Amino acid sequence: KAQAAVKIAKRSGKVEIYRNGVLKEAQRRFSIESRLREALAHGGLTLAYQPLIHLQTGEITGFEALARWHDPELGHVAPVEFIAVAEESGLITSLGRWAAYEAAQALSRWDVRYGQPLPVGVNVNLSPIQMARDDVASMFEEALRYSGIAGSRLTAELTESAIIADPDKARKLLFALKDLQMPIAMDDFGTGFSNLASLHSLPIDILKIDRSFVSSMAEDHDKAVIVRTILSLAESLNLKVTAEGIETQELALALQQMGCWQGQGYYFARPMSEADAFDYWRARWNFETV
Ligand code: C2E
Ligand code: MG
Ligand code: MG
Ligand code: MG
Repeated sequence: KAQAAVKIAKRSGKVEIYRNGVLKEAQRRFSIESRLREALAHGGLTLAYQPLIHLQTGEITGFEALARWHDPELGHVAPVEFIAVAEESGLITSLGRWAAYEAAQALSRWDVRYGQPLPVGVNVNLSPIQMARDDVASMFEEALRYSGIAGSRLTAELTESAIIADPDKARKLLFALKDLQMPIAMDDFGTGFSNLASLHSLPIDILKIDRSFVSSMAEDHDKAVIVRTILSLAESLNLKVTAEGIETQELALALQQMGCWQGQGYYFARPMSEADAFDYWRARWNFETV
């Protein structure tokens, strides 16, 4: 029966198409892995910085550092694609180390340009695989020391899955990051199976409400209810909340009225180069203080 099905499929060309599809996918994955290895060895990656805005005052509190990769052969590859390959191949460890050092170095270069420390921080994303395989606390300690940056200016963004994967290891890591004075943010909050007890028992400072709830909360009543619930949960647990994916003024105002602390999204600004981020901050900082 199965053979007959294969015969029919073969006749209609479906097996060939399937085989080609799988082959193409494997080839792409393989070339991403080898090109990424090359990029990591030779400085082919950059970080883009997306402003984080204090919703009550309009001030720029910091930037989220987001990895960007333009390969000479592959062109622009999206982070969701190369981060997944980096996780599967183990390259995420060196990618994560590079990102932490680069973010701390960017802060120190901005400080030098400005002549004194900027009152902003940078958020660095951590992968659960990186957290399982690497000594992330020592990595941050070294990156901070190397750049002369205060730990309070580097926020670690991690996801709930990293805590679920190995709760004991995560607990040790989070307390080690607190020893470095680093703020800790729970990224993509609401998308995982939240263990509410861990929010209380772990030294988490910030919840980042996932874009999937924020971007459609104006049209979708259920999404708005979830956002309100996260805000009141955060208030009772004494956590700050960042809303990501704010694409309209309407959403920015609604979240401001709901008492949300910080916002991030295309409405304010897209991720930008290190130089543009500095100019963006300086233009507004001068404007605010003059
Ligand atoms: P994330 O950490 O949740 O980052 C936020 C993502 O939302 C970014 O996508 C950002 O460009 C996008 N975004 C921000 N505002 C808006 C908006 O208003 N509308 C829409 N549609 N999108 C918005 P990006 O840069 O493509 O990164 C995707 C994911 O890749 C990140 O999600 C993060 O999980 C991962 N990633 C990026 N850089 C790194 C890194 O250095 N290390 C690790 N481990 N993961 C990273
Ligand atoms: Mg993030
Ligand atoms: Mg996020
Ligand atoms: Mg997200």
